[in-house]
Amino acid sequence: MRSFLTHLECTYCKTIFSAEKPYRTCSKCSKVLFARYDIKSAKKEISPAKISTRNPTMWRYFEMLPIINPDNIVTLGEGFTPILPINNLAKLLDCSSLFIKDEGINPTSSFKARGLSAAVSKAKEFGLTKFTIPSAGNAAGALAAYCARGGMKSDIFMPKDTPIANIKEVSIIGSNLTLIDGLINDAGKLSQEKAEKENLFDVSTLKEPYRVEGKKTMGYEIAEQMNWELPDAIIYPTGGGTGIIGMWKAFDELEQLGWIDSKRPKMFCVQSSGCAPIVKAFVEKTEFAEPWQNAKTIASGLRVPVAIGDYLILDALRSSKGGAVSVEDEDILLETKLIAELEGMFICPEGGATIKGLKILLDNGQLSKDDNILLLNTGSGLKYLEIFNN
Ligand SMILES: *Cc1c(COP(=O)(O)O)cnc(C)c1O
Ligand SMILES: [Zn+2]
Repeated sequence: MRSFLTHLECTYCKTIFSAEKPYRTCSKCSKVLFARYDIKSAKKEISPAKISTRNPTMWRYFEMLPIINPDNIVTLGEGFTPILPINNLAKLLDCSSLFIKDEGINPTSSFKARGLSAAVSKAKEFGLTKFTIPSAGNAAGALAAYCARGGMKSDIFMPKDTPIANIKEVSIIGSNLTLIDGLINDAGKLSQEKAEKENLFDVSTLKEPYRVEGKKTMGYEIAEQMNWELPDAIIYPTGGGTGIIGMWKAFDELEQLGWIDSKRPKMFCVQSSGCAPIVKAFVEKTEFAEPWQNAKTIASGLRVPVAIGDYLILDALRSSKGGAVSVEDEDILLETKLIAELEGMFICPEGGATIKGLKILLDNGQLSKDDNILLLNTGSGLKYLEIFNN
């Protein structure tokens, strides 16, 4: 096995950087860097059949992941989560084909495991051992876990009203935790200061190029698990947007590998009405999103007022002819309870938001009852016990 990683490329100004040194964002325009691969050569070496015999983790796509030496992989068994039909909900909504990919069963109970497994592994390859991160909750738990697993140190900055499960998992793992009076972007400033002062590596969302490589494996898995034919639509609860950006990148790579055709799902982002900068930018047809003031939602993963990858999220929504909807927190709670009752799945509120999003998109005609629709549940409801009263 070998990785076909070749270089990094700025997603905005297209400047090329070496993949042999740790870079964060583009030094020319400060925008997001993507890892690029020699897909022509990879195509000769791997095939769906070859991949299908490998272990059921995200590392089965090793050739299209950025780690050169497999010994550097820091893993807790992340990825290859099931795609389950949700027929009871489908029946209720009179839909023909509804699925959910359940990321709640990942290590640390959210899909943040994918990104941080990749980022920590790549950092290990560079010989980095000390990390810092600002987090709305689940990224903190994942960084703490993968650092512990890799024998590394982490400094974590989170809002003080982050769900208690996130705070406890980080303190039990023994990371250096700072709770702040503010939001994830305020945490980001402190994290960056600390990183500069103490020479720590800051793994903020999309401010280093490898977390998105971990998250893109959701796109590879969706294709593989749906037999190399993508669904008509994907509904995704969007905070910083790494997941949607990662899946969109994966579909491109898969087409270049010749494993899927040019058909793409309509990509839909769902945000809470208490923090919906991407929805606003989508509706107003702007290239970037404005920072959201007074962000507030129980779905802590969606409480992200500024996303550095805003232009990439918006591009995926627009070029796929998808869209963006916001939902009320009240409805998020109702839908989370509904799917628990109907399907026995105790999902996170971010996942619950996609169900309300689905209902809105069916009502306004952006989706039809015959579409093959995939919802992403990004984490487990067990991490949010305090928001559920009965
Ligand atoms: C971080 C997070 C999100 C948002 O993910 P992005 O890919 O950054 O948009 C959604 N749900 C949960 C549970 C999260 O932890
Ligand atoms: Zn650039």
